Amino acid sequence: MASRNEEVLREAFMTKRSQNKSPFTPTNWKDRWFVLTPHNLIYYDGDRNSGRKREKGRVDLSKVWAVESVEYSAFQKDLVFQLVYGSTADTESVTLYIAASSAHDHDDWLEHIRSLVGNNTNLAEVFHKGALLRNQWSCCRGPKDAVACTPVTWTRNNNATPDQPSPSPPLNQDNMLPVPGVRTAFGPYRKKIVVAIYDYNPTEIGDLPLRKNEEYEVLQDAEENWWRMRNRNGEEGYAPSNYVKEKASLGLQQYDWYLGDATRQRAEFILKREEKEGCFVVRNSTTTTGMYTLSVYSKQPTPQVKHYHIKREGDLYYLSQSIKCRTIPDLIFKHKYNPGGLCTRLRSPPTHGRQPPTTAGISHDKWEIDPNELNLLEELGSGQFGVVRHGKLKCMDVAVKMMKEGTMSEEAFIEEAKVMTQLQHTNLVQLYGVCSRHRPIYIVTEYLRYGSLLLYLRQKEKHLITCSEQLLDMCLQVCEGMAYLEKQRFIHRDLAARNCLVGSQGVIKVGDFGLARYVVDDEYAGSGGAKFPIKWAAPEVLNYMRFSSKSDVWAFGVLMWEVFTCGRMPYGKLRNAEVVDRVQSGQVLERPTYCPETVYELMKLCWTHDVDRRPSFADMRCQIVEIQEA
Ligand code: AMP
Repeated sequence: MASRNEEVLREAFMTKRSQNKSPFTPTNWKDRWFVLTPHNLIYYDGDRNSGRKREKGRVDLSKVWAVESVEYSAFQKDLVFQLVYGSTADTESVTLYIAASSAHDHDDWLEHIRSLVGNNTNLAEVFHKGALLRNQWSCCRGPKDAVACTPVTWTRNNNATPDQPSPSPPLNQDNMLPVPGVRTAFGPYRKKIVVAIYDYNPTEIGDLPLRKNEEYEVLQDAEENWWRMRNRNGEEGYAPSNYVKEKASLGLQQYDWYLGDATRQRAEFILKREEKEGCFVVRNSTTTTGMYTLSVYSKQPTPQVKHYHIKREGDLYYLSQSIKCRTIPDLIFKHKYNPGGLCTRLRSPPTHGRQPPTTAGISHDKWEIDPNELNLLEELGSGQFGVVRHGKLKCMDVAVKMMKEGTMSEEAFIEEAKVMTQLQHTNLVQLYGVCSRHRPIYIVTEYLRYGSLLLYLRQKEKHLITCSEQLLDMCLQVCEGMAYLEKQRFIHRDLAARNCLVGSQGVIKVGDFGLARYVVDDEYAGSGGAKFPIKWAAPEVLNYMRFSSKSDVWAFGVLMWEVFTCGRMPYGKLRNAEVVDRVQSGQVLERPTYCPETVYELMKLCWTHDVDRRPSFADMRCQIVEIQEA
């Protein structure tokens, strides 16, 4: 234990990454009891219940030279922070990676440790925001001894002395540098210049229109989704942060041919629809972070899309040995004149390639929509809460859910809607706002032209049932949307094909997230209710109504089954009680006829009874991508 004269400042269970001797041993995380004292960070084993603890190691805080967050992609794990200590020579330092159990713990521990080491003489100015995996840094892809790539997000604590740690976290003090390039409420001002990667036409007065490729100065970026910006004419206003990219890290975003994280299937969909010889896109490699793939359409000898990994040798990129260039745009340019081993020379990017993303709500800090601004059009369908109609909000297509009175606890939902408008992801149906000042209330969302995924699958069964690649891509898209919700700690509670929608370009989006909490219907409320989605419910939901992202993963397995059967009803005509018996006894849904064995294995992983062993959506995403690339 911490010695008697060491004051305990913080203590908590967190997980610690084992400090692998070999870079090739798998990453291993263990629960440890962490104790922070003014001079040491000590960790113990022992279990959460008995509290028996044996010291497993400690870090002398005077040797620490960086305390920083770790980027999510390093371990596909959230809330990880790192302490780098020992010799400042990169090769001799040691990094302790710790995953906190909540965002609050993460920030609290990070800031508290920083306040204790703020006077160390050896504090670093740069660090690796990724991790060393297989002898390569995941952030800059440099070798083990590569110079650290990212400026630290804080500086020394001028007020504290080693014996008298600053009682408050140092980040918010005037003498601290802000996050590089970002204006904070406290630090000295630094200009942050961004470039618009899409046009943006505001719907609200006071918001700033954006023109693609033009530069803007960011005046306020305290909120995640809407930043206050100034254009070159000095006009100011809010604009969506996902429509701009920092000039310094613009990279390939400025090119129409760059599709970012689009999957192989999405690229094929877009290119095949255009049917133009030499039409091409470049996208991030799904298997190797930091690498790229070129996808090209050619009619010769038969219409097809070919995919080429852009290889790298030193600082040169190439597709074939004959043409090597320092940058990818240069490489693309050269291949426009010379196929150089490709199936055809590159001609033009697709006309309908990169679509602008949705915005989180219709404007900064606005979720209440005036019904007079809505032009209601045809009926799209009706569901649990009532009729859904197509509509126009100014010139924007929207779907308007007219909530049948008495079907939902409205006050609670309206409060939550403010939070839900801020959830923004390509694979989530965007909530734009609500009309809550009259009854019935309207929920205004993004409009998806092909409607419910369930009906789509049923209608297109003949065509889709044998297209397992396309079906798996639908699952991947749902998984991407759900991985985002999981990261935001938002539980869906009613994930099923009927609650997903299909848009243009084969896009699938998850809808109705979180709405289940506001349903007022006894038939729906408990697992005994006739309308409760028993067939999608995990055992812990059936037994204790315990919902979590992991119970969403169970439902995702059932959704995958719905996709691969093109919309069959899980468990056929079995009654709810029989389904519960089946699930409790460990029987799972059978493999759909055309479903590859590897995909069925993934479904079964989702149906792991032990919640702790059930994969997360982030895990599922990796596994689906692996199958796609195999
Ligand atoms: P729901 O109340 O969400 O079950 O929706 C009922 C039906 O309305 C769905 O099955 C869809 O066909 C249609 N619908 C709902 N939301 C949308 C939307 N955002 N875009 C297009 N159609 C929608």
